[in-house]
Amino acid sequence: EGVWRLSRLGVSVHEDPGKDFWTVSEALLKEIAKVLEFPVPSMLPPEAFTVVRKSFDARKKEPKFVYTVDMDVHKLVSLEPRTSEFVSELEPKVGFLEFLHHNNVSGDLMNVIRNHRKIGETASSSEVVHTNHSMGAYKFSATRKPKVVVVGSGPSGLFASLVLAEAGADVTLVERGQAVEQRGRDIGALVVRRMLQLESNFCFGEGGAGTWSDGKLVTRIGRNNSSVLTVLKTLVHFGAPCSILVDGKPHLGTDRLIPLLRSFRRYLQELGVTIRFGTRVDDLLVKGEHVIGVKISDSRGSFESGCQNLEYDAVVLAVGHSARDTYQMLLSHNVDVVQKDFSVGLRIEHPQELINDIQYSGLASEVQSGRGKVPVADYQVAEYVNWKEMNIPSNVEPISRSCYSFCMCPGGQVVLTSTDPSELCINGMSFSRRSSRWANAALVVTVSSKDFDALNLNGPLAGVEFQRTLERKAAVMGGGNFVVPVQTVTDFLDNRLSVTSVPPSSYRLGVKAANLHNLFPGDITEALQRAISMFDKELPGFVSSSALLHGVETRTSSPVQITRRSGTWESTSLKGLYPVGEGAGYAGGIVSAAVDGMHAGFAVAQNLGLLNGSI
Ligand code: FAD
Repeated sequence: EGVWRLSRLGVSVHEDPGKDFWTVSEALLKEIAKVLEFPVPSMLPPEAFTVVRKSFDARKKEPKFVYTVDMDVHKLVSLEPRTSEFVSELEPKVGFLEFLHHNNVSGDLMNVIRNHRKIGETASSSEVVHTNHSMGAYKFSATRKPKVVVVGSGPSGLFASLVLAEAGADVTLVERGQAVEQRGRDIGALVVRRMLQLESNFCFGEGGAGTWSDGKLVTRIGRNNSSVLTVLKTLVHFGAPCSILVDGKPHLGTDRLIPLLRSFRRYLQELGVTIRFGTRVDDLLVKGEHVIGVKISDSRGSFESGCQNLEYDAVVLAVGHSARDTYQMLLSHNVDVVQKDFSVGLRIEHPQELINDIQYSGLASEVQSGRGKVPVADYQVAEYVNWKEMNIPSNVEPISRSCYSFCMCPGGQVVLTSTDPSELCINGMSFSRRSSRWANAALVVTVSSKDFDALNLNGPLAGVEFQRTLERKAAVMGGGNFVVPVQTVTDFLDNRLSVTSVPPSSYRLGVKAANLHNLFPGDITEALQRAISMFDKELPGFVSSSALLHGVETRTSSPVQITRRSGTWESTSLKGLYPVGEGAGYAGGIVSAAVDGMHAGFAVAQNLGLLNGSI
């Protein structure tokens, strides 16, 4: 009550304070005054306004910073009598204002949970529940805390662990990869000496797949969603800059993610969470319809005892989309796993200057390698390619496809995300300043069971096999040693290989000219060709001989869904098993995975009787 939200307030680049996210500048007050039809902007007290979102919009002829601000009506009234008179007249004009209540998230996740923890209980209380597997129900007991194992320390596993530990569970977090310090050394050895550690790489290790990433925190769930805000506030608690709460396109970069993860880890350990890095879950212990624990082994093979069986009341499976062995293991227990559509394609890389010119034209010089007033330029493109426009042979089932850019990394670099040396797949990362000379993004098309069928791939893991087929082809086309096959975008459109000495690439392990038409089934290639030509209409200059396509981008999202019951988050086939995050097919990206993990944490805590009422 008493807070009005004003949106779409545009301030020119020249008048704006740039990377300062919070200042209510004179120029912004002028825009506010225009919207309120208030005659004297200088009479509006800046203290009455809070910036809640600031984005850079380069789409218009005159690029602008665009603000959303909250106006505290009471502050206006108490600070300035003449303003107060005006405000009392304002009520009937509310039609041109977007009036929203402040959402209810008043603090970070820790406070939210503390408010819901069972009255009278503390994290160290012994008044907890005990799982009675034989009866298929949870029963109270006064003997011990419920024991939960969280498998995977990506965003979903970390947030599930945090909620469960705060709620009073005895949590063990098991991660096949290494802590960020060792993982950094392993990734260094990969990039410099081509040594791929199977269990510690760009996909596996502390923080999950998103640690050596661009750290984009945008999500399709919506920025005003209270769960998203809770996740962002929690990240700020662990060291992310407060600007992520306001920036329209927040991102962290690898250099900020690593210290953030260390402080997240320390906090979990202080709460009593046992964290076991270099430890892989190889199997589930199942009794009747319940999972009762996990079988673990040292992922680098040095456990003296070989492997161990550990019993738990609940197993949270947060393994990400690259845990192919874990998917296989689930099938051996008849856990419900179904195929899921996903996307495959290529990663395009342009010189960043070219993207700045396309997006900002006259303002491109303001970028200054990430130090300037305006952000390093990005883009987002999407087209629908109708099969009727394609030259599909009569023996191929016609499929229309969405083609879109994905995981765009301005000022970033292309990196290797393989988890097996016979397979080759890539993605993109950046550092917080986004200061590299390159701009890369995936250009991908949707694939579904029809595509898997066409290659005679069946069963729940057909999508995994589809990915693997493309990754193996890419490895062969690159000639081995993690060299990536590449083609200029102009040659890709013309289906030829005119240049054997390709333009430079940010990819550190080497590139080799190849015709990427040989990578995909023909109709996928054609959909990509058509979409790229359409992208050039939206972003003139996008098709350029200095733009290099890299193969292959396959791990855009999970190729399966491990189905679960809505509300309880429990697997549809195995009680006590909670599939969460991207690997379970319920999230895509850092923030949505974190949100899913957080919700799952609440659901498990509730099922174990640790929380009051519904969250
Ligand atoms: P993951 O992060 O994949 O974590 C799963 C964890 O489980 C891993 O650490 C793995 O080692 C562990 N694990 C797997 N199997 C086992 C097992 N059997 N036993 C023990 N541990 C196991 N998203 C964005 O939103 N923004 C970005 O900028 C962005 N950039 C990316 C850049 C790269 C290079 C990559 C690879 C991904 C990027 N993503 C980005 C995607 C994002 O990282 C994922 O969506 C997100 O990490 C998914 O979170 P998760 O917790 O579900 O799974």
